[in-house]
Amino acid sequence: MLHITLAAKTPADDPTDPLQRTFYGWGEGDPVEQNWANNRGCWVLGARANRENYVIFSYYKVHKVVMAAEIDQIIDAPGRPGRKIIEGRLLSAGHPVHDRYVGESTPPSARARNPVTYFDSTVGGRLCGCGCGTEIFVGDFVRGHEQTALHQRVAKIGTIPDFLRWFDAVHAGLTPTAASSEGASLTFEGSVNLTVADDGSATITVKPTPRT
Ligand SMILES: [Zn+2]
Repeated sequence: MLHITLAAKTPADDPTDPLQRTFYGWGEGDPVEQNWANNRGCWVLGARANRENYVIFSYYKVHKVVMAAEIDQIIDAPGRPGRKIIEGRLLSAGHPVHDRYVGESTPPSARARNPVTYFDSTVGGRLCGCGCGTEIFVGDFVRGHEQTALHQRVAKIGTIPDFLRWFDAVHAGLTPTAASSEGASLTFEGSVNLTVADDGSATITVKPTPRT
């Protein structure tokens, strides 16, 4: 679990801020959505953050967890070398991670000088990516299971050299997949204009009717 301690609400008006915030820190009177939008960056996050599925935030003044979010991915903050932005979704009541932490005391391990800490949690697990059914709380696989899953797939093709030749051929597009010769179809309401210029180049303009 990634844990971030928030300072008190501080006005911000930096025109180069990639999050275009008007404040950062915990706004006690502000909607939680706004607090999430204003505090998901720009943090110095280590490699472990990429393996975490959830982030919880505490407010330093009350030593309580004030919000939780599921992490989709962590991206580089544009124009902020070494800083990261968390992309994800705020959790609400009913989600096990929200219900376990939000409103509770800040975890003891997070009472550190550094606002960014990590701790092991047994809430909000997901199933191992290999399909073995084991619940895990960090990363995508039980340690070693990604190797097993990979080698099972290699064995379906043959030896490792067989697999590499097969993969390179598929990746280069030499082996058409079943649907690739069928073309693609698109259904929508609106208009299509096809313009052919004197040099033979064609332009297709698609104008969907806006849904009301
Ligand atoms: Zn597994």
